[in-house]
Amino acid sequence: MKRGSTEVALLVLGLAASGCGGEEEASPPALVTNEVAVFVDDPEATWAGTGGSELSALLSFSVTYWGGSGNALAGWSLHIHHGGGGSTNVESRSMSMGTELGPCVGALPVPHEVGHAMLYLLTGDPDGHHTDPRWKTLPRPGCHKPAVTS
Ligand SMILES: [Zn+2]
Repeated sequence: MKRGSTEVALLVLGLAASGCGGEEEASPPALVTNEVAVFVDDPEATWAGTGGSELSALLSFSVTYWGGSGNALAGWSLHIHHGGGGSTNVESRSMSMGTELGPCVGALPVPHEVGHAMLYLLTGDPDGHHTDPRWKTLPRPGCHKPAVTS
């Protein structure tokens, strides 16, 4: 009987921790890295709880790739959701991307969305039609190797 009540307690904790989502703007970010507030709405993105050093490295790499430096995206937010797609809203300074390519940092289209953000900051045009030649050589590390190799 004692064991049974422990299991019930764990189940209740699990339900309380899962929440209901849908109000990510009102919730605190999962982490803040490179002065970018990162909101994660995908329970499979388990890396979010470990400090995000790999995400930090990927953000830094991406900013540099597009000609920026340091915390050029300070004040921006990054929203990670389950499923596909990605977008950048320069007015609200937010980037959104899905985890469809894998449950790891390297599979996120961070270099792509940071490209829109940095091009907007540097040129005033986010290049929504992907005319900059650097789009063709964007790295896509995936889940089987580090997001960024130095
Ligand atoms: Zn794009």
